[in-house]
Amino acid sequence: MRKIIIAIDGYSSTGKSTIAKRLASKLGYLYVDTGAMYRAVTLFALRNGFIGTEHENFGALIKLLPKIKLEFVLNTKTGHSDMWLNGENVEQEIRSMQVSTYVSQVSTVEQVRHMLVALQKRMGKTKGLVMDGRDIGTVVFPEAELKIFMSASPETRAHRRYKELLDRGMNVSFDAVLENVQKRDEIDSTRELSPLKKAEDAIPFDNSDMGLDEQFERIYNYALRIIEGKK
Ligand code: C5P
Repeated sequence: MRKIIIAIDGYSSTGKSTIAKRLASKLGYLYVDTGAMYRAVTLFALRNGFIGTEHENFGALIKLLPKIKLEFVLNTKTGHSDMWLNGENVEQEIRSMQVSTYVSQVSTVEQVRHMLVALQKRMGKTKGLVMDGRDIGTVVFPEAELKIFMSASPETRAHRRYKELLDRGMNVSFDAVLENVQKRDEIDSTRELSPLKKAEDAIPFDNSDMGLDEQFERIYNYALRIIEGKK
């Protein structure tokens, strides 16, 4: 069967990864969470003191970029891949509010994007891939056969994120989550390099009032039509 690339972009906490994972497992495709890669680089910057409340030293981060090794390693318990940074499983830590606070700033750094986009392009060489992020349909795979652009109201998204963090046992307030979601949207959409924006040929997908099953069915059907050559 024909293999395609599915690019899912959109605002923070629109449920991109949930749908992308489900699509990948149904189609037998590889799933790549590019946000996890930007988060891992941010964790590296935080641990090395290159970014904090009152300082940022991106020059030092850029120098050490060649020392960063990122891998997706299958977690046999969850059936999904975890993000590993220099031989350590950081899947939990990269989801913390601390990483969320700084990730959009780190993601504006040209050399960081350069390195991660190159890795992402390599992962798509053999197709059969679902990738989610902010610039997948515009920069990483402008040739992707199916592009989805997800959105939902900020409150809906903050509620989803808040619940997810509580489920992971993290102690956060709803207001802090809402503020973080809005702040990241603003930085991500207005940055000079690869800003978050809908690719011209992406399908706009507002899921504020849509359950997971309905979202999945709709997007899966878009994919099937392309795979079966009906579009
Ligand atoms: O997808 P997630 O919310 O985990 O992404 C975290 C952050 O990483 C985003 O807010 C954005 O700043 C950055 N990012 C990016 N480009 C991508 C994926 C994520 O700039 N392709």
